[in-house]
Amino acid sequence: MIPPDHPRYRSLVVRERLAQCAREGVVALEGLTAHGRAEAFDYLIGEQSTPTGRQAARIAAALLRQARRPVLSVNGNTAALAAAECAELQEATGCGIEVNLFHRTDERMRKITRLLEDAGATVLQGTPERLIPLEHDRALCLPHGIGRADLVLVPLEDGDRCEALRAMGRVVVTIDLNPLSRTARTATLTVVDELTRALPLITAAYGELAPDEVERLVRELDNHYLLQAAIAEIVRGVTSALD
Ligand code: ATP
Repeated sequence: MIPPDHPRYRSLVVRERLAQCAREGVVALEGLTAHGRAEAFDYLIGEQSTPTGRQAARIAAALLRQARRPVLSVNGNTAALAAAECAELQEATGCGIEVNLFHRTDERMRKITRLLEDAGATVLQGTPERLIPLEHDRALCLPHGIGRADLVLVPLEDGDRCEALRAMGRVVVTIDLNPLSRTARTATLTVVDELTRALPLITAAYGELAPDEVERLVRELDNHYLLQAAIAEIVRGVTSALD
């Protein structure tokens, strides 16, 4: 039992949640190390959404507003941490939700699908095909889901699939605390923020944006600039930490 007044209460609760989900087979063991890397970056930005992260979330919402067939791609970590936030994004935007796993087994697919459904999400089902040019199982996706999506929102993505989706002409929006990752640098747009903070920001912005702001945000989108701004925020935070 973690005492609620522990200074790192939230972080410890999240770790416990992920460890439990790993024991249940929802989260892959490799997912725990990916979380550790993200925690380090979250520490560097003060464990709160930065101005750049908030701006990127608004742009993500604008891209979603323009998309005709958006799909949210969910892996084990995303389902373990943010099943409810995924369901809320779906309710607000009408996006499809598809489970896509690197360490793919039928059992994990079922467990993650159930977790999402218990949180109120509708999960795309069907027979997957190798539609993404990749050797591993993240190539597998649904022809009526990611296979025909014009925008794929892929939180906590690995660089290979992001690159492959971009090469297929898809708009790729990622959420990644590491602004230096291959995914962050390859995506159309990277929201450098923690998943459970970023998804609600995108959901809220989706309902708020006026049509002319949607157009302006998409027209002016510059991911390289946003990543540089995110790195500058990290540097500022680190250099002022001991002042
Ligand atoms: P790449 O292949 O793109 O260089 P990677 O090898 O770091 O990335 P993974 O190990 O698949 O890719 O990790 C996925 C990414 O997700 C990591 O960059 C990590 O920082 C990020 N990440 C993990 N958990 C969270 C979270 N809760 N919120 C935001 N980002 C996260």
